[in-house]
Amino acid sequence: ELSNRMAVRAVDIIKMLMKQGMMLKINDIIDTDTAELVAHEFGHTVRRVSESDVMEGFIDSDDHSDDAQPRPPVVAVMGHVDHGKTSLLDALRSSDVATGEAGGITQHIGAYQVRLPSDERITFLDTPGHAAFSAMRARGANVTDIVVLVVAADDGVMPQTIEAINHARAAKTPIIVAINKIDKPGAKPQNIVNELLQHEIVAESLGGETQIVEVSAKNRLGLDNLIEAILLQAEVLDLRANPDRTAEGVVIESKLDKGRGPVATVLVKRGTLKRGDIVVAGSSFGRVRALINERDEQLAEAGPSMPVEILGLDGTPDPGEAIAVVENDARAREITEYRQRVRREKQIAPVGAVSLSDMMSKLADKKVKELQLIIKADVQGSTEAIVGSLEKIGNEEVRARIIHSGAGAITESDVQLAKGSNAPIIGFNVRAGKQARDLAEREGVEIRYYAIIYDLLDDIKGVLSGMLAPVQ
Ligand code: GDP
Repeated sequence: ELSNRMAVRAVDIIKMLMKQGMMLKINDIIDTDTAELVAHEFGHTVRRVSESDVMEGFIDSDDHSDDAQPRPPVVAVMGHVDHGKTSLLDALRSSDVATGEAGGITQHIGAYQVRLPSDERITFLDTPGHAAFSAMRARGANVTDIVVLVVAADDGVMPQTIEAINHARAAKTPIIVAINKIDKPGAKPQNIVNELLQHEIVAESLGGETQIVEVSAKNRLGLDNLIEAILLQAEVLDLRANPDRTAEGVVIESKLDKGRGPVATVLVKRGTLKRGDIVVAGSSFGRVRALINERDEQLAEAGPSMPVEILGLDGTPDPGEAIAVVENDARAREITEYRQRVRREKQIAPVGAVSLSDMMSKLADKKVKELQLIIKADVQGSTEAIVGSLEKIGNEEVRARIIHSGAGAITESDVQLAKGSNAPIIGFNVRAGKQARDLAEREGVEIRYYAIIYDLLDDIKGVLSGMLAPVQ
């Protein structure tokens, strides 16, 4: 298709890509960035006809143009199980001015926006935990602007706390810590602040950058401080989007409703989504028949950072899939057909697979080449030993960077982090669970298993030396 459109022989494109280290067959699908590179290489000027062609890795280009206007922050709540994520989301929901009255938040649609007395707004993703966060990121949709990390004052930093920190870090999303359950008699918030230091989360009170707020979701203490912290962080981030353009967003969740058909909750990233728009979401499309918010109100349109349910799609797109407005039905069909084809082919051979050899070619022109890795081992002692050794083997040109490590089986969450960060997973004396394995296969994430540390280090050393620039 690309060769046709450029009137260049397919074999020449394949040759050119081969020089870049990509081995492809004639009908393989390449991503938009590669296609753009190819087109430039053959002297063509690239114009992205529809924003929907760049679904993965949104163009943020006009979010700071003159037309961009401030938009509310989008916040995800993460933390260890039972530390109070759900309770906190419930408590924050009622900080909405109209809650309890007509027009208050009444529906669970996967995200809600609170309207504060100051007239400011904050959008919360209503699915606690990092599964949703990383599922979205794995699809290239970074919707979260700020992570609120909940740590229970009576329990402290736990494995999923660390996982959440690593997920947020990998996504370069700022963290605000909410030390929860301070109403409990045994609560020692200062201990938590100290524990967090070990994970390089430095409180502002200690000269660091992280806002740490003490709250009780149960007794509704400190919520105002938390909201203030979020607004302050949002101001620092200077979040903007242009409302006056065709809309793009991300699917938060979707379901098949008996009476209404496919219903998808969408978070608008930029532009304004209007009733009657023709949209493509993943491999589904349709004309937006209705927009409904978390207050069960029918809207005519929804602007940046607004979550809305939409009716009218012909299927249920997956969370994290992008949604975009296209000019007409024919175009919508063309894109969805293309995507369905990509999907089918992906099931045969993963495209954009995360493997070590892939990593090397992608890293080819960075200055300090980093091999990102996720390490899972049977016991914490081995994890630390492996991480310690890996961190030593780099030099000023190449190094391994461990974006997450821990003890225990390889989980779906690890795979999602791996996919989102383009990092392979190293398992030492552990296996991946069935679901994690299936997901890794689907997403093309490489998992390597080892039983001997020496073998593991040797392999990584080999990969790192392969990443060194050839000696001239
Ligand atoms: P999640 O698993 O992180 O979503 O945690 P939940 O919100 O389900 O809370 C777990 C348990 O902690 C529940 O029994 C809550 O009632 C309790 N809990 C949550 N927040 C607080 C709090 O601020 N104080 C106290 N004492 N208990 C809380």
